[in-house]
Amino acid sequence: MSSSDPAADLRWMRRAIELSKRCPPSRTAFSVGAVIVGADGEVLAEGHSREVDAVNHAEEAALGKLPAGDPRLRAATVYSTLEPCGQRASRPHPCAELIVAAGVPRVVVAWREPSLFVAACQGTALLTAAGVEVIELPELAEEARAVNAHLVG
Ligand SMILES: [Zn+2]
Repeated sequence: MSSSDPAADLRWMRRAIELSKRCPPSRTAFSVGAVIVGADGEVLAEGHSREVDAVNHAEEAALGKLPAGDPRLRAATVYSTLEPCGQRASRPHPCAELIVAAGVPRVVVAWREPSLFVAACQGTALLTAAGVEVIELPELAEEARAVNAHLVG
């Protein structure tokens, strides 16, 4: 069910990077953008860090706009500028678990989480172990990182 269109992946990731620029700046958390795209190339939801509250993550904000069990999620791709978190202090479930629970089969990321707030992000490992396809777009990592220049230089 998952599509594999490199040009579309780059286009949606650029959209997610634009969303990440809307995040209220934080000294203790990354600015991240996320877009959930359905199998037919339709945007199902968008989100960015701290959109709903001070500890909101982008993927969580986007998933929260869709009803639980939305069948379109089972053929969707989550584009996130940063690797989804595999652990977090502020919520019971990290974004990787939320994505697995939603039944999303495919995740595209631009930037691997640097060891700044957690020692080693386990998000990709958690997703892969659950059978989710994770694709990295290293060519957009610098753009995704640049939005966080206040944190990582
Ligand atoms: Zn997260």
